[in-house]
Amino acid sequence: MLSLNTPISAISGVGETILNKLAKLGITTIGQAVYYYPFRYDDFSHRTTINRAVTGEVVNIVGTIDIISTRRSPRQHIYVTEAILNDGTGKLRVVWFNQPFLSRNLQAGDYVSLAGKISQDLLGPLIISPQYEKVNKTGGIQHTSGLVPVYSTISGLTIKQLRVIINRALTLAKIEEWLPPDLLKAQKLLTLKEALINIHRPKNWTDIEAARHRLAFDELVTLQLQGQLIREKWQASQAPIIKFNEVLTKKIISNWPFQLTNDQRRCSWQILQGLGSNQPMLRLLQGDVGSGKTAVAILAMANVADSGYQTALIAPSEVLAHQHFQTAVASLGKFFSIGLLTRTQQFLSTPEEGIKKMTKKQLAKELALGQCLIVIGTQALLQESVDFYKLGLLVVDEQHRFGVEQRQLLLNKKLFTEDNKNLIAHFLAMTATPIPRSLALSLYGDLNLSVIKTMPSGRLPVATKIVEDEDRSKMYKFIRQLLDKGEQAFIICPLVDPSDKLAVKAVTDEFHRLATGEFKNYKVGLLHGRLSGAKKQAVMADFVAGNYQVLVATAVIELGIDVPGATVMVIESADRFGLAQLHQYRGRVGRRGQQAYCFLLKSPGSGTLAERRLRAVVKYNSGQELARLDLMWRGPGELYGYEQTGFVELQLANIFDQDLIMVAHKAALAVLSDRVWRHKAMAHLAWKSGVLDVLPQ
Ligand code: ADP
Ligand code: MG
Repeated sequence: MLSLNTPISAISGVGETILNKLAKLGITTIGQAVYYYPFRYDDFSHRTTINRAVTGEVVNIVGTIDIISTRRSPRQHIYVTEAILNDGTGKLRVVWFNQPFLSRNLQAGDYVSLAGKISQDLLGPLIISPQYEKVNKTGGIQHTSGLVPVYSTISGLTIKQLRVIINRALTLAKIEEWLPPDLLKAQKLLTLKEALINIHRPKNWTDIEAARHRLAFDELVTLQLQGQLIREKWQASQAPIIKFNEVLTKKIISNWPFQLTNDQRRCSWQILQGLGSNQPMLRLLQGDVGSGKTAVAILAMANVADSGYQTALIAPSEVLAHQHFQTAVASLGKFFSIGLLTRTQQFLSTPEEGIKKMTKKQLAKELALGQCLIVIGTQALLQESVDFYKLGLLVVDEQHRFGVEQRQLLLNKKLFTEDNKNLIAHFLAMTATPIPRSLALSLYGDLNLSVIKTMPSGRLPVATKIVEDEDRSKMYKFIRQLLDKGEQAFIICPLVDPSDKLAVKAVTDEFHRLATGEFKNYKVGLLHGRLSGAKKQAVMADFVAGNYQVLVATAVIELGIDVPGATVMVIESADRFGLAQLHQYRGRVGRRGQQAYCFLLKSPGSGTLAERRLRAVVKYNSGQELARLDLMWRGPGELYGYEQTGFVELQLANIFDQDLIMVAHKAALAVLSDRVWRHKAMAHLAWKSGVLDVLPQ
């Protein structure tokens, strides 16, 4: 038996090349392999014989290859491999396309198991491009029989290889239970070991359901435990009392070109009240994209600075950090000195001298001496060797990828003031993720919630339309008319693995296609994840300044940036996105109150579910409603990752499953109050999140 921390290289047959590929998938240990879930299953449980095979059915057939040969088709220049399978009851034609290596793997006389759909052509029944494996006399059938797990992988590592590796890991792993048996019994949950075995090697759909239920429960309990730990730490500490400076606050607001909405006013007041107490504040500010959360944070920061304490604002990307810096300088630059600290750039703005470039060292010194009261940056800010003089408030802008990292920030030692180890900073998280209240409340143990429900007035709903492929040119023409009026458009390319070269190629191709075609008379920019931070920064700044009229971007690009002139959002292969996510993209346009448009294009071959999902985006204008529908419409056997909900840690759990959330909440409290199980749970948590050293015991 191997511990979950054993390097994956311990598995025989895993060499250098495969190790590198696995690492890209986040698998470096046995435990990570065991927790790498399939995202769907192929159902090959219908084992049949050739004489009984029925056209249209997906089947598994085992037999011997009589003949096999590969040729190049003269017209299409693709490889065609043809074989005859014989299982004693009859013969079946088998055809594979474009798998030239196949004839190296399979030869006449091989005993094989095939899985696929029986089709029919002029010559009778055949099976096209089936999954195949040679059947080993000793081992069972792994890839072509029963419910076969399908994992997401990258080029250079086949699903078959991955399946074999995960299976070995599962066999070797020492999987220990971390929840009390009576809890499992009361909730009718599988043991952890049973659940992990069933998720990778299910015998039937019931196994899969039971496994997912148990593992989803684990995810929710884990969240609750982290929340409770944060709560325990917070309750044991005190925070600086921040006085409300009404004159200053009014002065800042009166300089803004808009009036605060009632919701912004209420939320600001709730936050200022929280800051005014020596009980450390733990508050979540929730509001859709564009609802104006930044203004609320600025008022909090101003009052903290006025009381002589520092604020650190953590943005989800360098581009956003930069924008927050500019916003903060515009509102507060006259009163306080404000820093920007990211991995690649450092600036300091002072009331006397305006904005200057700095080195990291210089800026760190300003922070350590307490001369710089507001600092904006990425997570690097709390990781780098930066010490605060007196941190009074930590603001985390999570955009729409709400996750564990942000909560781990809270366990950071730097939140405590140097001269008084018991004094901890207040905490404000901002999110556009539509987290239901029941879950939000438990994220930080028991945090307070401020919600901005209404958008600033004068903002029109974004006109959303599903565009059929044949109407593309009409759409481009419509967009050109808007560009001619000085408006700007985003074109978002399909959601694909961000680290994948293909994503960059796809977006680059689309950029060339548009820049030399439909938009050849316009200035078109290109943005993707492979550009350097500074380059991204420059492209975004150019787009904001109106130097580009159209921006072609990958989906992974941070679009939290405010582009006031943008009124068009085109989303390619929109059906591949989560609905709440589409809603957030849509929120990026029409920020100045102009009529804005969102055009959703479907991916080739998308079906009726795609159509129904996109119609929901047209119909509903609420991120929360859309997220809920998305989870409800999950297809059988499908898993959605964080992309769908913006909620990073949950792979299996449904954030709208209020009942299970409540059960998990009680379970976490029970576990924490029992010395032995608390210890086990801590160990599990530390292993899962890798934060052993910072967790309180
Ligand atoms: P988010 O909640 O997504 O972070 P922002 O804070 O970026 O939203 O605000 C979006 C835009 O709305 C900004 O340009 C901001 O200046 C503007 N804004 C904020 N509050 C109001 C308001 N009350 N009325 C009009 N515009 C506002
Ligand atoms: Mg924002």
